[in-house]
Amino acid sequence: MSAQHPGDIASRLAGVRSRVAAAERAAGRAPGSVRLLLATKTIPLEGVRAALLADAAARADDSAASPVLIGENRVQELVAKAPHLLDLAPEVHLIGPLQSNKVNQALSAASCVESVDSLALAQKLATRCTAAGRVLDVMVQVNVSGEATKHGVHPDDAVRTALDVAGLDGLRLRGLMTVGAHSPDPDRVRSGYRLLRAIRDEVRDSGAPGTASAVELSMGMSGDLELAVAEGATIVRVGTAVFGSRPTP
Ligand SMILES: *Cc1c(COP(=O)(O)O)cnc(C)c1O
Repeated sequence: MSAQHPGDIASRLAGVRSRVAAAERAAGRAPGSVRLLLATKTIPLEGVRAALLADAAARADDSAASPVLIGENRVQELVAKAPHLLDLAPEVHLIGPLQSNKVNQALSAASCVESVDSLALAQKLATRCTAAGRVLDVMVQVNVSGEATKHGVHPDDAVRTALDVAGLDGLRLRGLMTVGAHSPDPDRVRSGYRLLRAIRDEVRDSGAPGTASAVELSMGMSGDLELAVAEGATIVRVGTAVFGSRPTP
C-alpha cells in the first residue's frame, strides 16, 4: 500500500504523461511542448530516484519525450537530495521561497530558481553568479490570484520586475511562474493562467535586453494542469499525481 512503491510511481507518471499529452491535443498544441516538473517536497530520495528511473525507461520507448525536471520548495531539502541524484543528471529547479541567507546553498544545487519574487533577490543572485562566472536561469514568480498566502510579485508590477531581472548580468530570464488560484471555479483558475501568459507576452514583445529567452510559463499542478496547458503552460509542476498524497506535517 506504500505510496512510494516504484511500480506505483511509474504507472502514475505514465498517467500524468497521458494527461499532459491529451491536454496538448485538446489545445491544438504540438506534442511535447509541455515539460513535466516533479514537485518532490517531502518525498524521500528513493521515491525521487524511482520517478527519474521510470522516466528514463519510458523515454527509451519514446525518443520525443523530454526528461522530467525536479523541483524542490525548501533549500534545505534541495541541498540534501540533489547530490544523490547526480548520476541521473536531472535539471533541478528551486520552486519555493528563497531567503537571501540561503542564496549560496541554492546556487550549489539548482540550475534554475523559478521563485524570484523581488528585484532585491534577483540582484543578490546576479552578484553571486557574476562573481562565480556562471549564469543562472531564473523565472519571476507572479501572484496571479492575489491570495495572501501566495508568494510572488503583484501582477501590476510583474512586467517591470521581469524587465529589470532580464537586464541583470549573471542571470538568464527564462519566463514566469505562478501558483494558481486555490478555487473550485475553473474559470477563475484559468483567468489567472491567462494573465500570466499575457504578462509573458508583454515582456517578450518589449524587445528589451534579455527578454528573448523569457519563453517559459511554469503553471499548473496535479489538480489543474489541463487548464494551464490550455492557456499555454510550457512546464507543469506535479507532485501528488505522481507520488501520492504527501504526509501532513
Ligand atoms: C507542491 C507544489 C506543486 C505540486 O502540487 P501538487 O498539487 O502536489 O501537484 C507545484 N508547485 C509548487 C510551487 C508546489 O509547492
